[in-house]
Amino acid sequence: MKKYLILFTIVLLLALTYLFLRYFKTSNQAGLPQSTPTLTQTTPSPTASPSLVFPISQFKERITKKPFGAYITPQNSPVQPERFIGYHTGVDVEYEEVTTDVPVYAISDGTIVLAETASGYGGVLMIEIELDNTPHTVLYGHLRPSSLPKVGQKVKKGEQLAVLGTGNSPETDNERRHLHFAVLSDNRLDIKGYVQTKNELAGWLDPLAIF
Ligand SMILES: [Zn+2]
Repeated sequence: MKKYLILFTIVLLLALTYLFLRYFKTSNQAGLPQSTPTLTQTTPSPTASPSLVFPISQFKERITKKPFGAYITPQNSPVQPERFIGYHTGVDVEYEEVTTDVPVYAISDGTIVLAETASGYGGVLMIEIELDNTPHTVLYGHLRPSSLPKVGQKVKKGEQLAVLGTGNSPETDNERRHLHFAVLSDNRLDIKGYVQTKNELAGWLDPLAIF
């Protein structure tokens, strides 16, 4: 009888050890940081948040003159001479010293909804994308007109859309070489670079806040 008791105890201990090891292994795994698959960037544009890519290289670093919402006048403007007045609806990304082509990229999957030349911009395009499941239009200004895509064209996140126009030429409507980049609060077609009241500025999002 004692023999069976000893055997039973051994079996019980083995079972308990097995269960303990199993539990320990599981809890240890859960305690480790999740190993995430390596994200491979398939486009030349730099990585932004997981769902968006930046519209141009060195996007944040090169916003050195006109940030979003700045009230610009010919007197206070960091750009001289200045012909505009009002609240800036986007950010200006500066490439004056760059002489090679500077591509701009789709920040997300979308559709080209506007591509034209316009006063104050030279070449300008808008794409419609989804942000938080809501349609928004995104504007890229001062582009080389001959590089513009066609309205209605579908684009993929990170796809090259156009290149910046040559500074101080009709391609940029005689502006310095830079990208005016704006994100609208909805999907309307509105290419205003400046608005005259703070209330109107609510029609645009701070582009730095979406990345
Ligand atoms: Zn601008």
